[in-house]
Amino acid sequence: MREKNTKAQDICKELGLKLTPQRMAILGYLDGNTAHPSAEDIHAAVSRRFPGMSLATVYNTLASLRDRGKLLELTIDPSKKRYDPDTRPHHHLICLDCKRVSDIDHVFDLEVPDPFGYEITGNHIEFYGYCPECKGKKTTSAPARR
Ligand code: ZN
Ligand code: MN
Repeated sequence: MREKNTKAQDICKELGLKLTPQRMAILGYLDGNTAHPSAEDIHAAVSRRFPGMSLATVYNTLASLRDRGKLLELTIDPSKKRYDPDTRPHHHLICLDCKRVSDIDHVFDLEVPDPFGYEITGNHIEFYGYCPECKGKKTTSAPARR
């Protein structure tokens, strides 16, 4: 926990953000988090320790981090934006049922045949399907289709 706080302090300093306990808690929650939480998930988790924290504080902190390249904002889940503190280039996979988002670290050899004169600087592939748990539920509990 102490290590996480030091890291959160470093990020705040680097970004010129005021060090508030709430901001530290948000950064601590995000540090090493691979669950791709939404702003609401983050708020729910952090407000357990800071009951007065508003969702706006979470949104503002996330926007500052995103704008400074410290956080990826993912649009893979159409129902809500998801956040990823892992800013290395990687791809994602979503379960259409439980909305779990997983990392795909494979490097795809992609080339755009005619990039319209653009200098391509990146890409992001979204995969979707059903995770092992949801796939199982579908086959065991769903009545057979006639
Ligand atoms: Zn699932
Ligand atoms: Mn990710």
